[in-house]
Amino acid sequence: MTDYWDPLIERMPVDELKKVQEEKLVQLVHYVYNHSIFYRKRFDKAGISPDDINSLADITRLPFTTKQDLRDTYPTGMFCVPKKMVVRYHASSGTTGKPTVVGYTQNDINEWTISLARALTSIGIGREDVVQVGYGYGLFTGGLGLHYGAEMVGASAIPTSSGNTERQIELMQDLGSTVIACTPSYFLHMSEVVNKLGINFKDDTELKCGVFGAEPWSQEMRQRIEKQTGIKAYDIFGTSEISGPLFTECTYQDGIHIWADQFLIEVIDPKSGEQLPDGERGELVVTTLVKEALPLIRYRIGDLTVINSEPCKCGRTHPRIMRILGRTDDMIIVRGINVFPGQVEAVLLTIPEVAEHYQLIIDRKGELDTLTVQVEVTKDVFSDKISDLMRLENKVGKSLKTVLNLSAKVELVEPGTIPRSMGKAQRVIDKRKI
Ligand code: ADP
Ligand code: ZN
Repeated sequence: MTDYWDPLIERMPVDELKKVQEEKLVQLVHYVYNHSIFYRKRFDKAGISPDDINSLADITRLPFTTKQDLRDTYPTGMFCVPKKMVVRYHASSGTTGKPTVVGYTQNDINEWTISLARALTSIGIGREDVVQVGYGYGLFTGGLGLHYGAEMVGASAIPTSSGNTERQIELMQDLGSTVIACTPSYFLHMSEVVNKLGINFKDDTELKCGVFGAEPWSQEMRQRIEKQTGIKAYDIFGTSEISGPLFTECTYQDGIHIWADQFLIEVIDPKSGEQLPDGERGELVVTTLVKEALPLIRYRIGDLTVINSEPCKCGRTHPRIMRILGRTDDMIIVRGINVFPGQVEAVLLTIPEVAEHYQLIIDRKGELDTLTVQVEVTKDVFSDKISDLMRLENKVGKSLKTVLNLSAKVELVEPGTIPRSMGKAQRVIDKRKI
């Protein structure tokens, strides 16, 4: 049985949903043109007037916006409301450069929370649940976002934030947390600490699922987490620019539902900027349909994904995005081969002797870029003979080569060697830039 937060909207026939989007898009272009000097200039420069936008198809006539625009107008130059309307600020974590500031009206906070209430309901979270929020509280949107969402569905939120792991586990046991929301890499660390304490999630906690996101993670990582801990691991997606964490998979775990009455998504070819059809992988572009303080038109998020517009088995009609491969700028090019860290993760985790902790180190020897994949092995394997370890190193190297066509030096390292993460894991160390 699937529960809905707002069945009328979540199951709205696709045609009607498109009509809602069209109306909102038409309003939006007038709104931004009339409320922001930035958008007025941008439209004028592109020779486009709000009156030119009358249908969903017209969206391709609108210019893109980018993170660089937010940086150029730092801190609030793209806002469409006076400061007195802003009830909250957050800032991005600055993964790819200078952090950007985002702001919210009261209505923006409500819409953000509604989005999460629908999402959390779609994975069966409700009044009976205790949601431990292990995302960072503060400028990062993860903590407060999940906190408000959990409260809206009537669950109890525990604002542990990230870190202080032993205390987190104690609270998890004492308060009976049924849901943990944190980055997948922090959950890996939490699992290790649970093992060290001589307990396990299945017998010693009431945990039933995890809401994991804020960084790329692979399907293979999901399988490992679910197998090792007995919980369901769900993917959650969002970025500070479009509010924060907003969308999750439903219990079918087959793509992340994007609420079409609030956001209009496209996937484009990152090079040409052309819209791509459903099913083709490209860069995710989002237009916010209901945001007041910082509406974004055709914002190039930079994440690579695929849109699936088929209604889902759960009955929801809103489009889904499939697992994020990474951002366009996460791509590593090693001697002409393009790879994403997530693809390396997927290969590594198909090898049972290899643990979930890894790091990619890029360096330059002379003219040549080199890639070293450091990966931890499980405890049992580490006590094996050196010759066995070398055999395993070869096996990992071969798998990377076969699946990704990537030649990398593989270094197996002792369990616990690679730094653990409290938030977003740093999986790539580029020594060429140090
Ligand atoms: P930034 O990291 O850009 O400073 P945010 O903290 O808002 O800003 O992070 C948003 C980014 O995190 C997304 O653009 C995406 O790259 C990544 N991200 C968030 N959720 C996921 C997810 N479920 N899978 C993969 N990547 C994700
Ligand atoms: Zn679904």
